[in-house]
Amino acid sequence: MEQGLNVCDTTTPNTRTITRNTDNLKSPSRETRLPAGRVSGAVRIAGLYGHNPKQNNLLAGLPVDDYERILPFLELVPMPLGMAVCEAGVEMEHVYFLTSSIVSQLYESRDGTATETAVIGHEGVVGVTLFMGGGTSLNRAVVKSAGYGFRLKASRLKEEFYRAGALQSLLLRYTQALLTQMSQTAVCNRHHSVVQQLCRWLLLSLDRLPSNEMSMTQELIGNMLGVRRESVADAAGKLQDEGLIQYTRGHITVLNRPGLEARVCECYAGVKAEYDRLLPAPLKR
Ligand SMILES: [Zn+2]
Repeated sequence: MEQGLNVCDTTTPNTRTITRNTDNLKSPSRETRLPAGRVSGAVRIAGLYGHNPKQNNLLAGLPVDDYERILPFLELVPMPLGMAVCEAGVEMEHVYFLTSSIVSQLYESRDGTATETAVIGHEGVVGVTLFMGGGTSLNRAVVKSAGYGFRLKASRLKEEFYRAGALQSLLLRYTQALLTQMSQTAVCNRHHSVVQQLCRWLLLSLDRLPSNEMSMTQELIGNMLGVRRESVADAAGKLQDEGLIQYTRGHITVLNRPGLEARVCECYAGVKAEYDRLLPAPLKR
């Protein structure tokens, strides 16, 4: 028996349930499915719970006609922590326009180590390989901050993309921004200190979060940055001593964002400026 508030769409014959229970976010296999093709009702229900496709900057940036054409096919889905949105070498069935969740794009080596190559939040979409034509990539995409997103079937996305209209233009610009972030991440990981990398990572995450708090263990941050846990502990200790963050048992609170911006390398500002230049809305809400 599920706990939490269940809401049913009583206006459609095939009623499905939306469960507002944050425990669900811990279960990668459980997904709120809203029926494609009749989602005007589903989106309406989502709206009752504060979910709106326009919480995604790309969808919000579409002209009305383009937006309304895909709106009936958008499905609200919970994005629980640890959910694999995309596996390396596997073609995705949907693209995911994120709203409140954050997804880490990462490469996993054969020895089991991983490095984050990009972070994606409400400004973007997971699944660029589908419309770029390659189908698959070497990267995985995993939810690192639980929340929600709206997904769209790959076939529907391709159909819209090949109209060569506003969505195509937005997605290409987004892809350029994503490539900028990926290349700058490579530079940062090679040339800048762990403290600077941690500042960059915190600020990139902060731009995609509604608050100044996040849950993340030092081990996971080390995995994201491709450095040892001890190095993350040293770097986090320095930032804490400087009064920039508070770090307690996997819970990070950013106390002084301007201080982090003063401490970070040029990689953060460069990437953010490109995102703000290329995309329809500033990165930070
Ligand atoms: Zn850097």
